[in-house]
Amino acid sequence: MMDAGRQKHLILAVTDAIIAHAEELTALDQAIGDGDHGVNMKRGFEAVRADADNLAMKPLPDMLKALGMHLVMKVGGASGPLFGTLFMSLARDMPADPSLAEAGAALGHAIEAVKARGKSSVGQKTMLDVLAPLQAELANVDSDNVGPRFKRAAAEAAQATAPMKAIRGRASYLGDRSIGHMDPGARSVWLIADAICDALATPVPNEERP
Ligand code: ADP
Ligand code: MG
Repeated sequence: MMDAGRQKHLILAVTDAIIAHAEELTALDQAIGDGDHGVNMKRGFEAVRADADNLAMKPLPDMLKALGMHLVMKVGGASGPLFGTLFMSLARDMPADPSLAEAGAALGHAIEAVKARGKSSVGQKTMLDVLAPLQAELANVDSDNVGPRFKRAAAEAAQATAPMKAIRGRASYLGDRSIGHMDPGARSVWLIADAICDALATPVPNEERP
């Protein structure tokens, strides 16, 4: 059941994960980009965290839209508009209290919006290479242990970007030299997915309630 307490628990988990891993994200971007991904994401997710009470009080779709707008305004780089588009588009078809199948359908539309915005597709060593396998996991709602399966899928998909050659974004300038490093945006999606699973599986602490 999605209520303000659960939504705030989700926001805190996701923002804390990105903020805590900013240096790792920057190091990944130093290897195949310009080294700003951690700083970019940290700036955006700090803005989201500062607005957590207000965001959590909104119905889930409105919360996602407002969260995406913070990211568009604050993250910058190539990833700001793309992560912003992801969350704003998730809002479009997300019910206030979604089933896994409904969340999967909403994620499907959001992925299409990111592809359109980035002129990109799966297999080009980007955030899409984690988002698409996660959507496939959500479509497979019959099986048990969705949380652990989802977490494993995110980890495997992010790690699978390492041997890929970048075709989009700054890393594509490196050509074959992009091979052998995990994509920073893929790592960010892995962190976000992991934090969502953990926050859905744990009780909401009383002191977090908005
Ligand atoms: P910039 O590339 O402008 O420095 P960031 O470093 O913040 O921006 O973000 C880089 C990440 O953005 C990449 O690791 C990749 O996952 C994602 N990305 C970049 N361009 C695209 C694109 N066209 N489509 C999808 N994702 C992209
Ligand atoms: Mg960068």
